[in-house]
Amino acid sequence: MKLTALGTGGGVPSLYRGLPAFALERNGEVFLFDCGEGTQFRIMRSHIKPGRLEKIFISHFHGDHVLGLTGLLMTLSQFSREKPLELYAPPGMKEFMDNMKKHLNFRLDYELIIHEVTGGEIYKSKEYSIYAMPLSHIIFNLGYKIEEAERPGRFYPEKAIELGIKPGPLFKKLQDGHPVTLPNGNIVYPGQVMGPPRKGRKVVYATDTNPMSEMVDFAKEADLLMHDGMFSGDDDVMAIERGHSSVKDAARIAKEANVKKLLLIHISPRYSDGEMLLAKAKEIFPNTIIAKDYMTLEIPYED
Ligand SMILES: [Zn+2]
Ligand SMILES: [Zn+2]
Repeated sequence: MKLTALGTGGGVPSLYRGLPAFALERNGEVFLFDCGEGTQFRIMRSHIKPGRLEKIFISHFHGDHVLGLTGLLMTLSQFSREKPLELYAPPGMKEFMDNMKKHLNFRLDYELIIHEVTGGEIYKSKEYSIYAMPLSHIIFNLGYKIEEAERPGRFYPEKAIELGIKPGPLFKKLQDGHPVTLPNGNIVYPGQVMGPPRKGRKVVYATDTNPMSEMVDFAKEADLLMHDGMFSGDDDVMAIERGHSSVKDAARIAKEANVKKLLLIHISPRYSDGEMLLAKAKEIFPNTIIAKDYMTLEIPYED
C-alpha cells in the first residue's frame, strides 16, 4: 500500500497546504479519503491515475472535506469512465448529489453507487474489510479503517522436499492450503511446510475529532494512523471547542493504540512551522510524521 497526501491542511487552504484529500493505492486500486476543494487538480499533479479510483470515503459535510467532490466526479465522466464508483459518506450524500445534479444540470455517464453509512463494517471482501466509526466533532463525522485479511504463512520449500514433495504444482497446492497425497499414501498438510498466518496491514483515517478513547481500540496496532493534529496543544480549549485534536492528543492516542506510525493531518494554516508541531508530538510518540502536500508513504508488510 502507498499513501499520497494530496491535501494536508484544514479549514481554509494556504499556499503550502491544500484541503483534506488522501489517496491510498492498493493492488492497482485507489481509495480516496475526503475530497477538499482542488482535489482533482492535485490528483493531476501527482502520479495518481484518476481512472484507478475505486472508492471514495467522505468523513463529513464540512466544506473543506467535500467541496472538491462534484468537480472530480464530473471530470471522471468527461474521461469516459465506465466502471462504477463507490462513494461512502454519512447520511445526506444522496440528497447532496441529487441537488448538485439538479442545480448544475449534469449527469454522470458511469454508475455512482452511494453508500450512506453511520459506522461498523461497511465493506468486506476476501482481501480486506473497511470499517467506519463516528467521531467526536461539531457535526456527524466518520473515521475510516482499512484492514487487510490475514495472509497465508511463509512457505518452506526445503521442508516440503524433505517430506517427498517435488517442486512444481504440488508446492502451489500446499501454498493454497490444500493437503497433498504422495504416491506411497502419505499425506502432507500445509501446516507441515508453512509458518503461521501473517498479519495484513491496517490503515486508519481520523480527522476533525476531539481525542476519543474509542480511537485507541479502533486504531489498535495500525500500521498507519492518520489523525487530526490541528492544534499545537498549547491552546487545548480551542481544540476542544472546535471539535479538533492537538498534535499531543494525536500522539497520546498513537502511543496507547501502539500504532507503527502516526501521520499528523488537517494542519491549521495558523502554523507555518510544522517542525514545532512535529517536535511536540514526537516527545510523546517518536514515530510521528507531519503530513506535507504530495508526500508519499509506503506501508509495507510487517513480515
Ligand atoms: Zn476540516
Ligand atoms: Zn469539520
